[in-house]
Amino acid sequence: MNPFDLTGRVAVVTGGNGGIGLGMAKGLAAAGAAVVVAARNRDKSASAVEELAALGVRSAFVVLDVADPASCRAMVAETVAQFGRLDILVNNAGMSIRKPPDAYTVAEWQQVITTNLTGAFVCCQAAYTVMKPAGYGKIINIGSMMSIFGGAYAVPYASSKGGIVQMTKSLATAWAKDNVQVNAVLPGWIDTELTRDARAQVPGLNERVLNRTPAGRWGVPEDLAGVAVFLAAPASNFVTGAAIPVDGGYASEF
Ligand code: NDP
Repeated sequence: MNPFDLTGRVAVVTGGNGGIGLGMAKGLAAAGAAVVVAARNRDKSASAVEELAALGVRSAFVVLDVADPASCRAMVAETVAQFGRLDILVNNAGMSIRKPPDAYTVAEWQQVITTNLTGAFVCCQAAYTVMKPAGYGKIINIGSMMSIFGGAYAVPYASSKGGIVQMTKSLATAWAKDNVQVNAVLPGWIDTELTRDARAQVPGLNERVLNRTPAGRWGVPEDLAGVAVFLAAPASNFVTGAAIPVDGGYASEF
């Protein structure tokens, strides 16, 4: 038996229509999983679904606004209605608002926390209603280097991503008895739309990332595919509550 085989499994990737989400979705599809792309943008999602289907698996777009708890629950219900099961949930949808700490409104703080942390939690709750009776589930939450380090221009983002790690550990301990594993991935600096915006807004960021990353390069979304497959597959059945950096050594260097 191949411990990395995902044939017959159904995965949801929130924000799976681009960037890191699509990189992970492609890894899951290449390992045999059917993949639901759950996001807001229909055009981006339609082309992601095409790319995934070209890998020889079933794929579909299900609309999701993670900031709306009812939408999270409806997305899980729609996945089960279309695919008959839900084995793997990747909580990847996320956003940031960059400014000095004293400049945030409460609404801006709440928008980031609601999208990145509360949305992930509600999706976990909704998925658990399917995974618990099935006696099987894999949840992968996406943190950040800012789960470890502070960010002077990203206080709500860093707070949400720190929270992702503690939420992951708490759910892992609660749901281990149900054979539902909950782990986090902490990407380093990956070249996506999110960081293209950051590079445009934060002077010197590109050079700092290149100098500070021992691997000497930005990551690409495909760098996250392998860890997604590992954490979604039987290979990781006794791994739960972990937070795995995928960062070219960024978090390891003093
Ligand atoms: P992108 O901006 O490319 O992707 C973000 C995705 O989230 C989009 O697909 C977007 O889809 C989705 N999304 C945003 N808000 C919502 C919402 N309210 N409801 C549903 N989907 C939403 O960024 P990345 O690929 O870089 O980021 C993916 C994840 O990785 C994020 O959690 C980010 O914090 C994290 N990360 C990224 C790093 C990097 O260096 N790039 C480093 C560390 C962590 P749509 O607009 O269609 O809804």
